[in-house]
Amino acid sequence: MSSSITSKHRKQMDRGGVDLVIRNAQLLLESGLVRGGVGVSGGVITIIATDEHLPDADTTIDAKGYILMPGLIDGHAHIHDPNMLSHESFQSGSRAAAGGGVTTLIDMPLTTQVDSVTGLEEKIQQGISHSLVDFSFYAGMINSENISVVPILIDKGIAAFKAFTCEPFQVGAGVITKALSEVSEYGGHLTVHSEDQGVLDEFKKDMDGEWDAPISHSLARPNLAEQIAIRQNVSLAEQTGGHLHIAHITTREGLFEIERAKLHGVMVTTEVCPHHLVFYRDDMNRLGPRSKMNPPLRTKEDRAALWSGLLRGIIDMTVSDHAPCPIEKKDAGKEDIREAWSGVDGTQMILRVLLSEGINKGRLSFTRLLRVASRNPARIFGLYPKKGVLRIGSDADFVIFDPNREEKITADMMFSKCGWTLYEGMTMRGAPVMTFVRGIQVYGEGKILSKPGRSEFQVMGGGNRPRGV
Ligand SMILES: [Zn+2]
Repeated sequence: MSSSITSKHRKQMDRGGVDLVIRNAQLLLESGLVRGGVGVSGGVITIIATDEHLPDADTTIDAKGYILMPGLIDGHAHIHDPNMLSHESFQSGSRAAAGGGVTTLIDMPLTTQVDSVTGLEEKIQQGISHSLVDFSFYAGMINSENISVVPILIDKGIAAFKAFTCEPFQVGAGVITKALSEVSEYGGHLTVHSEDQGVLDEFKKDMDGEWDAPISHSLARPNLAEQIAIRQNVSLAEQTGGHLHIAHITTREGLFEIERAKLHGVMVTTEVCPHHLVFYRDDMNRLGPRSKMNPPLRTKEDRAALWSGLLRGIIDMTVSDHAPCPIEKKDAGKEDIREAWSGVDGTQMILRVLLSEGINKGRLSFTRLLRVASRNPARIFGLYPKKGVLRIGSDADFVIFDPNREEKITADMMFSKCGWTLYEGMTMRGAPVMTFVRGIQVYGEGKILSKPGRSEFQVMGGGNRPRGV
């Protein structure tokens, strides 16, 4: 304990021990919504009570009309690639997170490998210096050369590893089998971008002469590619007993494979991105190259299946797959969609999409919202119950939102470095109003209210991942 913490504690004792009280809210607990508020001391929740039982504090916030839930954990976000800082960085990406109610970012490698202690430690330093919100990391991309680094990085607090079954980091079933065995031995998980390269190679031939139409990007990557890859990965998880996490599910067929595997007791979890919950394939020619990402937008029926999977608990969590780029890299695909960067903004949109398209359209309940956005990612990454829950002793990471506020989405309100948003011009109902990281308000009413320097690297606990989150 440093002396500054000791003096801080002494000051808290003098005034009854509470730094911050948020009252008059509806609290989103694991059991549902209840009226009341929270008290925070030293960055952790110390009181959860009805309003008449809340003490006075230095800072008191009236949250009348709003709902308070644990901050979101964005478990798949490409925020800080040291060689791609023109796309995003901890400075800009963590502001986007704060503006979306995200209090913990799990950064995933974009193009630069994170497969050494040195590379990891450099990224941790970048996060501590520049991030507004708490953070941790995926390591990867796992291949036959770097697989031996798994136990070393787990020892450093990283328990999440990424691999691909398709380009540009394609590995075969042998590597995935070994990686699943290795990570499970140490209590981690392997996340696999699951599209079958053989299917992609063959189907893209059908699009020759049609690449000027953005929808060709989706048609060249059929649902079958996802289904085949998931089926194979699930069988490897079944054989090894390792925890397989399927990245960004998009298809009915893929979801069916996961549901069947879960029913058979295979340790498999999955995630969905906001763009796949909002848009569908036919939007691509209207939206142009901005709507290019992998896996691509699918059909309306697939989109409906994703909402159903989220509500029924087949999909465990929501993530952004935040991977925007300078607009020139999108415009490069105006004549030929193959030339455009694949990836969109997202971390500022997860909660907005879940409220506007989920809660307010009757596709999602509040208790599922809590599970998929906060609680389940905390469990999957071994951060629970420090993160992801309103509980005495948990970190005071909150988002306070107005479930009814109408907002027109424009690039002006977005904090990403990219300067554009896929959601431009949409009117959405339900918006984050304030965000707190360990008791410090980082965002309020459209403005960033804090400076970097207080964020903490989160060690993934491992071992806290029961079957079926
Ligand atoms: Zn990604």
